[in-house]
Amino acid sequence: MVTCNIDRMDDKIKTFSKFGDTGRGGITRLSLSPAALEAREEFCRRCKALGMEIKTDDMANIYATLPGEDGLPAIMMGSHADSVKQGGNYDGILGVLTALEAAETIVTEKIPHKHPITVVIWTNEEGARFEPAMMSSGVITGKFDKDVMLASTDTEGVTFKEALEASGYMGEASNRMTPEKYMALLELHIEQGPVLEDEKIDIGVVEGVCGMINYEFTFVGQADHAGTTPMKYRKDALYAAVKTIQYLHDELDKLDSKLVYTTGKISAHPNIHTVIPDMVKFTLDARHQDPEVINQVLEIIKAIPKVVEKCEASYKEAWSRKTVHYYPEFIDYVEKNAKEFGYSSRRIYSGPGHDAQFITDVIPTTMIFVPSKDGHSHCEKEFTPLENCWKGANVLLQTILDIDKNN
Ligand SMILES: [Zn+2]
Repeated sequence: MVTCNIDRMDDKIKTFSKFGDTGRGGITRLSLSPAALEAREEFCRRCKALGMEIKTDDMANIYATLPGEDGLPAIMMGSHADSVKQGGNYDGILGVLTALEAAETIVTEKIPHKHPITVVIWTNEEGARFEPAMMSSGVITGKFDKDVMLASTDTEGVTFKEALEASGYMGEASNRMTPEKYMALLELHIEQGPVLEDEKIDIGVVEGVCGMINYEFTFVGQADHAGTTPMKYRKDALYAAVKTIQYLHDELDKLDSKLVYTTGKISAHPNIHTVIPDMVKFTLDARHQDPEVINQVLEIIKAIPKVVEKCEASYKEAWSRKTVHYYPEFIDYVEKNAKEFGYSSRRIYSGPGHDAQFITDVIPTTMIFVPSKDGHSHCEKEFTPLENCWKGANVLLQTILDIDKNN
């Protein structure tokens, strides 16, 4: 089986780690920032050198294509090149660089292929500068309203539209990914969790993306003086919230061990050390691949009484997403190829969201995961050993070739 070049893989990772380098082992490469534009320029330079044709669409998604036979739709692979603030050198960009390395291998090894092969960069996956996350894959798949997205502003008051126009990468809407022009997407990504490394697995065969719910809870009590109000008269909204968080943990821990849940946001009003809090809000994010387990989470939420520690308790769904299932034929190819290369693999569901989960509604799609050291991600410690990146690129390349051959 043909393999990618590990030295070239190393060079790609090292080169792109310079764009937005924080000097502490990570990058800050917010979408369409100067650092992101440098990365895009280097990407386009390398693609052109390989003889690829570059197009961008109206959301500045980049499509770099190796030509194939006339009239056949292209096979896409890629991910995003933007990062969160003080993020790592692997999230997103590794999917772009492994795709670029696979394309480079096809060119240098003169591997025959029928379909055009496209390496894609999706704009603003992180939503770290302009909310929401997965903005551009969301717009072109009809999930988000483009005008609303264009009005999204960063902390400096710059709109996404202004950044898009200034970037030089805004192209025609007619260049967007459509099922007539593209037949498949493969996205390689770091796992962003500890499971693969923990189990000494090389390749995560991604079956889909976990469904999730996000609920906001509100507790209303009475603000009173911290020094004069005897304990028995208090309606302390923070105490009620804490009791409820404890209840949720106790009950949710009894459910399936693959369930993950988080209270990541909490606010207390008036948040003054001499005042009993009268209003506290917190969120609960819960994720699992099986909708039945998510239903069990909802039952636990519904069992919260209307009054907790003399405070009014209420909750509402902030947002949710159904479990996404990737394309079975491609999942099988990834598994087969990992096996044929002699790499260990296991099937896995993604907890985080990825562009691929939007694209899969339009064209057949799947993902490949590679391990994250100690599970760290969205931080400067994010790391995947070179050999794992290279193994991922090999599986990606072979899977693209299988799709080409069998369609
Ligand atoms: Zn990512």
